[in-house]
Amino acid sequence: MARYTGPVCKLCRREGQKLFLKGERCYSSRCAIERRNYAPGQHGQGRKKTSEYGLQLRAKQQAKRYYGVLESQFRDYYEMAARRQGIAGENLLFILESRLDNVVYRLGWATSRKEARQLVLHGHFTVDGKRVNIPSYLTKPGQVIAIASSSKDSEKIKAVVEASASKPIVKWLELDRENLKAKVIGIPERADIDLAVEETLIVELYSK
Ligand code: SF4
Repeated sequence: MARYTGPVCKLCRREGQKLFLKGERCYSSRCAIERRNYAPGQHGQGRKKTSEYGLQLRAKQQAKRYYGVLESQFRDYYEMAARRQGIAGENLLFILESRLDNVVYRLGWATSRKEARQLVLHGHFTVDGKRVNIPSYLTKPGQVIAIASSSKDSEKIKAVVEASASKPIVKWLELDRENLKAKVIGIPERADIDLAVEETLIVELYSK
C-alpha cells in the first residue's frame, strides 16, 4: 500500500500548522513548527500572495496530511461525503475521523496516526470481536474496538496504553480503560475535530 515516506515535519511547516505526525515530539519544544514556523525551502520566509485556488489546495493538503491519506483515497472519501445527506465538508471530516487508525489514535492507543496505522497493520485490534488489520476500515456507531487478547501483553501496546492513561477521550468514543476496549457511541461534531481547516474550501476545490 502506497504511503508518504518523506520528512513529515516539512509537511507541517508547509501547511503552517501542527499536523501531529510525530507523536510525543509534537508536544515538545523540539517541534519544527515551534522553532521554524515558515514554509521549507529557499523562499519559505518570503511574502506570499495566495490565490483562491491556492487556499483551496492548501486546505485539501492539510486535511489529507493530517489523516495520512493519499490523493486518490482522499478523493474517494470526498465523493462518499458528497453523496451523504448533510454538509459535504463536515461529512468528509466525519468519514476521516471514523477510520480505524484515527480511532486508535483518538483512544490514545498510539502516539500518532502513523503509529496507529502500523499497529493496525500488525493486527493488534479487533472490531466487534474480529481482528481487523486495515487502517482505512471505517468504523460505525455501535461497534466495539478492542486491543486483541494476544496483544495485551505486548510491551509496545502496554507502553502506549500506560502513556495515554490521562489522555482525554473524544465524546463520540467511550473507553473502558480496564478492559482495553471502546465503543463508538456516535459521530463527531465539527467542534470535536481539532483540525484547523476550512473544509468548505475542499468542497469548492473538488466541485470545480
Ligand atoms: Fe509537525 Fe510533529 Fe514535526 Fe511538530 S514535531 S512539525 S507537529 S510532525
